Amino acid sequence: MRVLVRGAGVAGLAVAHELAVGGAEVTLVEREPAPGGGASWYAGGMLAPFCERESAEPAVLVLGRNAARWWQAALPGLVRFEGTLVVAPPRDSGELARFAARTEGARRLDAAAVAALEPDLAGRFRSGLFFGQEAHLDPRRALLRLHARLVTLGVRCHFGRTAPPPGQRFERTVDCTGMAAGRPGLRGVRGEMLYLETGEIALSRPVRLIHPRFPVYVVPRGAGRFMVGATMIESAAEGPVSARSMMELLNAAYALHPAFGEARVVEASSGVRPAYADNLPRIEAEGDRLFVNGFHRHGFLLAPALAARAARLVLSHDAEPENSDETDRQRQGARVGSDDARSAAGRAEVPRQLLRDSGQ
Ligand SMILES: Cc1cc2nc3c(=O)[nH]c(=O)nc-3n(C[C@H](O)[C@H](O)[C@H](O)COP(=O)(O)OP(=O)(O)OC[C@H]3O[C@@H](n4cnc5c(N)ncnc54)[C@H](O)[C@@H]3O)c2cc1C
Repeated sequence: MRVLVRGAGVAGLAVAHELAVGGAEVTLVEREPAPGGGASWYAGGMLAPFCERESAEPAVLVLGRNAARWWQAALPGLVRFEGTLVVAPPRDSGELARFAARTEGARRLDAAAVAALEPDLAGRFRSGLFFGQEAHLDPRRALLRLHARLVTLGVRCHFGRTAPPPGQRFERTVDCTGMAAGRPGLRGVRGEMLYLETGEIALSRPVRLIHPRFPVYVVPRGAGRFMVGATMIESAAEGPVSARSMMELLNAAYALHPAFGEARVVEASSGVRPAYADNLPRIEAEGDRLFVNGFHRHGFLLAPALAARAARLVLSHDAEPENSDETDRQRQGARVGSDDARSAAGRAEVPRQLLRDSGQ
């Protein structure tokens, strides 16, 4: 079967991978000159389904718990299985207990245990949480390596174009163009992030700092480079990081360790996360097209599960739209497209088809 995949963000690359592995003849088009022309380029690369449960639907944990293994199998050596450390400044230590109550899979740490995990944080935090089953990867390397793997699998990749070369015919199209897809109910959630460089501190794993307004984290990239992210702003506006966001991100890094005060800011960027009202991704069918979109904060975490499902739908000629598996409340929430609708979607209700396909 000949399939066209549009968009070489994490969703499009993962879908193309699953289709090619499944035996499809895949062509990929991306409007930018290289992979990762959208939100994917700015991600933290955390594969953190347990921590994300603090604010996300149960489906995020169910669908995301095997993601690290998928990435490891597709791109050996890329994933770091170091877990996630969560800490809070002393004034917010009550928030740490709240975080623990809203999540599962954490081990409580005292100051000595925090120091044992991250020696450079010794003496800085009296307590913490350790989510040992979590992992992380470098998203930019992941995108480039996944593209290289697609080439070895025979996928024809065309960059700098929105349509395939003339004269080609495809039985199915899978649209993974993120915000550009303009799907009904899709909204943008702006995320601003920084790259800092310092040789004064070393971390082995992502460290989340409890923050009153948005989850702040520092992810080590190696060679003294750290990604600090990320704001959550209800806006599809691209463009430079605001002064306020820059101050908040830098303050958080400084609160984690004062050595970040001397770090070089080597990048300040923003990406717009495509999201539906319930903040869960969807696969929608329209004629011979499938739309795979709405990954919100979880593109690297949930793309493997959604890509596998999209590939199964395509290869089995099944055109059943994903939405038919949602609860009425989730459907209603997605139509309304508001924060109220998000809570109306209900934390306890998981799309049944998604659970079935993840083997749960
Ligand atoms: C700051 C930040 C931090 C994040 N951290 C994490 C994290 O730690 N873990 C995690 O799992 N997720 C994280 N995310 C979320 C994740 O990045 C997104 O969910 C994911 O990138 C969405 O991927 P996508 O492929 O759907 O969209 P995109 O990455 O936006 O890809 C869409 C692609 O389609 C292309 N395109 C657009 N129009 C066309 C067209 N007409 N023809 C062809 N191509 C087209 C675009 O150029 C782009 O390359 C983060 C996001 C941000 C912004």
